[in-house]
Amino acid sequence: MSNVDTFRVAVLAGDGIGPEVMSEALRVLGAVAEKFAISYQIKEERVGGCAIDADGVALPEHTLQTCKESDAILFGSVGGPKWESLPPQQQPERAALLALRKTFALYANLRPAICLPELTHASPVRESIVAGGFDVLFVRELTGGLYFGEPKYMKHESGEWFAVDTMIYWESEIERIAHVAFQAAMRRRQHVTSIDKANVLQNGILWRQTVDRVANEYPDVKLRHLYVDNAAMQLIRNPKGFDVILAENLFGDILSDELAMIAGSLGMLPSASLGISKGDGCYFGMYEPSGGTAPDIAGMGIANPIAQILSAAMMLRYSAGREDAAQAVETAVQRVIRSGLRTKDIHTEGTQLVSTADMGKAVVEAL
Ligand code: NAD
Repeated sequence: MSNVDTFRVAVLAGDGIGPEVMSEALRVLGAVAEKFAISYQIKEERVGGCAIDADGVALPEHTLQTCKESDAILFGSVGGPKWESLPPQQQPERAALLALRKTFALYANLRPAICLPELTHASPVRESIVAGGFDVLFVRELTGGLYFGEPKYMKHESGEWFAVDTMIYWESEIERIAHVAFQAAMRRRQHVTSIDKANVLQNGILWRQTVDRVANEYPDVKLRHLYVDNAAMQLIRNPKGFDVILAENLFGDILSDELAMIAGSLGMLPSASLGISKGDGCYFGMYEPSGGTAPDIAGMGIANPIAQILSAAMMLRYSAGREDAAQAVETAVQRVIRSGLRTKDIHTEGTQLVSTADMGKAVVEAL
């Protein structure tokens, strides 16, 4: 927290189910802040399609300004059929989400893939593999590598097209993301699996050397290296064998989606994108559910708010430095699931179907 007294949050609910699930996250945030005596301040702003309608752009200046004056951004999701025909650079996702990631240099993407023991039925992999559930944290480098490296172009030559993308990583980029992974592992089960392709790529060799060096600063954390192709297989064979997974941008993009799928329910999965470390173990960050605006169920009061609630918990952990409050929210969510309450997306026979708001209220009660 840059201001020791008050933790400032820019709240950007966005479109579709965004406002519905955000209301519940704010309800839980209010309750946990009271319980743990955390002084916080929220400022709600428009973003995405609703901002296009009201202000003409997906990321209005006043919204950006509020984010700059905050310690963290709690984000819903943006987009929907209404804005899909706009030119690509004006579309909500590109104009708001990517612009925010770029403005705040959000280089570390954290995606916990938690499959609760009660929800293993939602996983598409064999029950015996996920029995008992699992809890893995994916740490993906978000601003480097093949997606951003220059030169990057397509050219017509000798009668055909060719395309060039450049994979480039600086040691300092690898170091800072490795620190995020090792620090996260220290709060968890002290195990990092680093992904690379050191048998083929120069980038992989530098990645491995650098991660090894950073690992020396964390003697309590066990490190193993996996080639990306092997990692793709091991994840599906034994997701429970992982604690923290560290990967560069492209490999992380693909493998974190594979893992989210193995975990099962999209409405349960939060994410964090972290920027600069403030040196006190806290980061500026943007926190959002892994899913989108779910236009098919928007406005019906049936969306699962847990991904948004758990995103707020991650914000407490990484931007407010309040591990105690973050864990309290996570435990409350687990308790509610254990008690048998389910929104429609995770509902099965024998459990109790509840609305978005009732799920939020239940988490507050469990706190
Ligand atoms: P989606 O994640 O919105 O929906 C996919 C499926 O998952 C739908 O059936 C939806 O009902 C369900 N779902 C998602 N979140 C849920 C929740 N919390 N509770 C219950 N069910 C949930 O993906 P999509 O349909 O591909 O995209 C819809 C819109 O969202 C598009 O405009 C897309 O561009 C946008 N989108 C935004 C973000 C973001 O803002 N970060 C991310 C992905 C997609």
